Amino acid sequence: MNNVFLEGKDFARSYILPYTDLTDKESKFPEESFKKLGEKGFLKLLIPVEYGGLGKGLEEHAQVCLAFAESCSTTALCYMMHNVALMCIQTHGSDELKKKIFTDVVENGKFLALAYSEFGTGTNFYISEMTIEVNRDYTTFYGSKSMVTSATYASYYLVLAPSVEEGKINNWVFPLETKGLTFEISKWQGLGMRGNSSCPMHIDNVTLDSSFRIGAEGSGEEQVFNVVAPFFVTGLAAVYSGTAMHLFEIAKNHVVDRQYPDGKTLANIETVQVHIGNIYKTAAASKAITLEAARAGANGEEDALAKILAARIVASEAAIECGRLAMRVGGGKAYNKSLPTERLLRDAYAGQIMAPSADVLAIWLGKALTGQMIP
Ligand SMILES: Cc1cc2nc3c(=O)[nH]c(=O)nc-3n(C[C@H](O)[C@H](O)[C@H](O)COP(=O)(O)OP(=O)(O)OC[C@H]3O[C@@H](n4cnc5c(N)ncnc54)[C@H](O)[C@@H]3O)c2cc1C
Repeated sequence: MNNVFLEGKDFARSYILPYTDLTDKESKFPEESFKKLGEKGFLKLLIPVEYGGLGKGLEEHAQVCLAFAESCSTTALCYMMHNVALMCIQTHGSDELKKKIFTDVVENGKFLALAYSEFGTGTNFYISEMTIEVNRDYTTFYGSKSMVTSATYASYYLVLAPSVEEGKINNWVFPLETKGLTFEISKWQGLGMRGNSSCPMHIDNVTLDSSFRIGAEGSGEEQVFNVVAPFFVTGLAAVYSGTAMHLFEIAKNHVVDRQYPDGKTLANIETVQVHIGNIYKTAAASKAITLEAARAGANGEEDALAKILAARIVASEAAIECGRLAMRVGGGKAYNKSLPTERLLRDAYAGQIMAPSADVLAIWLGKALTGQMIP
């Protein structure tokens, strides 16, 4: 893949867009799109070349998530989480774990998910209240995760759990078929992102040997802040920037097409022109800061963290604002759902509350800019 953004756009038009309406209406996980994501190589985007992957990094991750979200926010979000999970395995996993999981992704089109958030600690997803019992090389887990995107469809779930070392956490891989793992699909009633299948996962007497732990004992927090954070936060910025751009496209096409009996269109009305300009500038600014943050992050630049945090906050606000204005110029057609505007606005509302929430990130941004420790 040379230009992953354009290839992502082409892919999305052919294999994501046809399912996106049904994904929302029936709250249906985009299985068909994921099958094609495997066949066309997108699932292995971040897997190193020596394991059969494409060896791409943060910038390409952001570009592909953005490209997909310009067609379907749900599919982009599920895909984004898969990439984040792969990065933890790539940077901290044992050779054995890499070989097993990367091979399953490359050869069998399997994908991954993040089971981090809990009912108690909520947006502070890096604090786990799960309990563990350790018996030599085996660890037994008990607890619940509150919202697990791609639940029951992903083959591997990254789970944060306490370490035996006081105050530390570990990042584990739970295969879907592990005994003691159950999902409560009926509890997913999302306002938007309805195809995500983001339901609770219950972990009752799940026993795994240490080969399923990613990295050294107690290294979970380091993974969360050095790997999950840049890829997840930049990925979220990309998903919501893509959602904002999608809203612009829909609004623009609508105002050009909507004709009055005198032959004039909505696009001929000055107030509407101002609204369209505002939707565009908001979406384009969000996209620009997201791509810049990904570039700075990929190059390890000093201000990368601030840019990544800022991009994610800008993007979640941009998607909601673009949705608000797109509903306004969309009139009765948008309100009565003959345009997909209301679906995208519902999707956009997930942005501000996904962990770490926009409010938490605003505090982190202030800390990062003034040289203070995060969180
Ligand atoms: C579509 C969707 C998909 C998701 N998928 C996943 C997934 O795949 N894996 C996963 O692990 N989780 C997932 N989540 C969960 C998500 O990331 C959050 O952890 C979860 O939404 C937190 O919910 P809560 O009600 O417990 O938040 P709470 O912790 O109750 O926070 C609610 C609000 O309070 C405010 N707030 C709380 N603490 C602070 C603070 N310290 N400073 C400032 N403001 C604060 C913020 O405004 C925050 O939004 C998903 C969520 C959504 C919406």
